[in-house]
Amino acid sequence: MKENTPIQEIQNPILDQNGVRLFIKRDDLTHPDVSGNKWRKLKYNLLQAKEEGYSTILTFGGAYSNHIHAFAAAGKLYGLKIIGMIRGEEHLPLNPTLSFAESQGMKLVYMDRTSFKNYRDHIPRLKEELGDFYVAPMGGSNALALKGVAELGEEINNSNQQFDVVCAAGGTGGTLAGLISSLDENMRVLGFPALKGGEFLYDDIRGFIKESGLKENVDWELITDYHFGGYAKKKPELIQFIEEFHQKHHVELERIYTGKMLYGVMDLIGKGYFSKGDRILCLHSGGLQINR
Ligand SMILES: *Cc1c(COP(=O)(O)O)cnc(C)c1O
Repeated sequence: MKENTPIQEIQNPILDQNGVRLFIKRDDLTHPDVSGNKWRKLKYNLLQAKEEGYSTILTFGGAYSNHIHAFAAAGKLYGLKIIGMIRGEEHLPLNPTLSFAESQGMKLVYMDRTSFKNYRDHIPRLKEELGDFYVAPMGGSNALALKGVAELGEEINNSNQQFDVVCAAGGTGGTLAGLISSLDENMRVLGFPALKGGEFLYDDIRGFIKESGLKENVDWELITDYHFGGYAKKKPELIQFIEEFHQKHHVELERIYTGKMLYGVMDLIGKGYFSKGDRILCLHSGGLQINR
C-alpha cells in the first residue's frame, strides 16, 4: 500500500489564460485494488478490528460500490475475513464488483432494500447467524475513517507546494469531512457531490466531523451542479471529457466521482470562478476499477 502519493501538475492553456495552476493528488496510485480514499478510510478500521482481536469484519454497501471492492481486497491482503452485506437481491451471474469481491474471499450476504435502510438494527441478529464480527460502517465513513483521511490532509499540508483550494468528490462525505478537519486553515475546500441533490452532504459532513470530536479547520462549500444526472448515468459529454483528459494529461478518471469533479473544476476555471494566482489541488480518489 503506497501512501505519500505524488502530486502532479497539469499543463493546459485554459489554466494559463485564467491565471491559475492545477495539481492532482494521485491517491489512485495507492494500490490497484484498494485505491484512493477507500484505503484512507479503511486503514484504521482494519487496525482497530485486529487490535480488538476480531478475525472477521462485516461491512455494508451497494452491489457496485467501490467500498465493497476495496474492502474485499484489503481483507485478503491483511488476512481478515470480510462479510459484505449487499443491498438488494442476489443477481447471477455476479456483477464485476461482486465477483471480484468473492474472488478475494469475501462472503456475500444480501439484504432487501427496506431492511437495508436501517442496517444497524440487524447487527445483533447477524451476529447470531454469522458469529461475532467488527462492524465497519456503510460507505466506510466513521471517526477512524476520518483519522485515515487526516493523514492525506497532512500529506497535503506538508507538501513543498502551497495550495489555495483543495477539491474532492463526495459520496457519503466522509472524505470531505476528513479533509475539512485536517487541512491547514489557509486552504479552502470545494466538494463535488456525485449524487443529485447533493446539498444533503452539508449536514452529513458536519455530522461526521462532530461525531469524530473534530472541528472544521477550513472554509468549505459544495458545488452541486456537476452530478450529471446522478450516480451512474453515462452522459456523453462527461465520457468525452474523461477520454480527452486521459489523452492530454495521462491521468485516467472515472465517471462516477473523479470525472465529474474534474469536469466541474475545469468548467469553473473557464468561467472565471477562481481568483488569479489560485493553486488548485484536486484529489484523485481512485475508483478506476470501474473502467476495467
Ligand atoms: C467512494 C468514493 C468517493 C466518495 O467518498 P466519500 O468519502 O464516501 O464521500 C470518491 N471517489 C471515489 C473514487 C470513491 O470510490
